Amino acid sequence: MMTAHAAFEALRLGNRRFVSKLGGGAVADPPQRRALPAGQDPFAIILGCSDARVPAEIIFDQGLGDLFVIRVAGKIVAPSQIGSVEFAAEAFHTRLVVVLGHSNCGAVHATLEQLARPWREQSRNLRSIVDRIRPAVEGLLDKSAPARDPRALEPLAVRANIRMAADHLRHGSDVLEQLIQQDGLVVVGAEYSLETGVVDFFDCVPAPA
Ligand SMILES: [Zn+2]
Repeated sequence: MMTAHAAFEALRLGNRRFVSKLGGGAVADPPQRRALPAGQDPFAIILGCSDARVPAEIIFDQGLGDLFVIRVAGKIVAPSQIGSVEFAAEAFHTRLVVVLGHSNCGAVHATLEQLARPWREQSRNLRSIVDRIRPAVEGLLDKSAPARDPRALEPLAVRANIRMAADHLRHGSDVLEQLIQQDGLVVVGAEYSLETGVVDFFDCVPAPA
């Protein structure tokens, strides 16, 4: 079993390889693929956005079997996402969870739009995503007037949504709460920059062992 801190270092170095264009070999490594039917042993769980520009395995330069990835628009935390994290943490003893948001997130943008123009028609299903992002973003609207500028607000909303989702994972599940308190599970929030390719781990980064 890899500790949360060792897993965190592996992701940090992988993203560095990706940014410096030294990575790219790991994903389709044939010997690794042939060993996979025997089972999986992912060292990190990633809850990320479905955005086509943010594939976790590529931006962390990891191979098949390395990451247990849950992707949903806006990387919202609903019961099925919590259940997926619980499953991986218990079944594979994976000890690091990364909530991975990104700049220019369409789901966050849609939520800001909806708050600005609540009368706009949305399907019930799409609304269920926006409704889960809304509490993170609403808090920002209450603050100072300059932040009401949508361009200034969007990066703040992205981070607020990451923090809220990470907190929800930490405290919205008895299983995860117990693993955090007694078994070294760590939930980290991070933002991927579409512009630079860099992942900024900014929320609850694990201390070195
Ligand atoms: Zn997104």
